[in-house]
Amino acid sequence: MKFKKNDTVIITAGKDKGKQGSVLDIFPQDEKVLVSNLNQYKRHIKKEKSAITGRTGIVTFSRPIPVSNIALICPKCKKRTRVGFSITKNEKVRICKKCNLPI
Ligand SMILES: [Zn+2]
Repeated sequence: MKFKKNDTVIITAGKDKGKQGSVLDIFPQDEKVLVSNLNQYKRHIKKEKSAITGRTGIVTFSRPIPVSNIALICPKCKKRTRVGFSITKNEKVRICKKCNLPI
């Protein structure tokens, strides 16, 4: 998985294209990530279900986004970049392909 929690990412496709957010959660098996305040949808919660969720009315929630639709913003050079990997002694380290610094 190229992305980690708390990464800053930019959306490259879909309705939120060009927007940035931080990764809240990752789903490696689905190759999706949940990004804060992005890919949001509204859902109406009926009264019967509010007993379970504690919420009624319209709620906004974020849906996971396929990793193919996001790109990493490098925290070092602040540019949209691709992730490379470098193997040091025992560790696999993520590298920014723009500035070559470990992320
Ligand atoms: Zn960089």
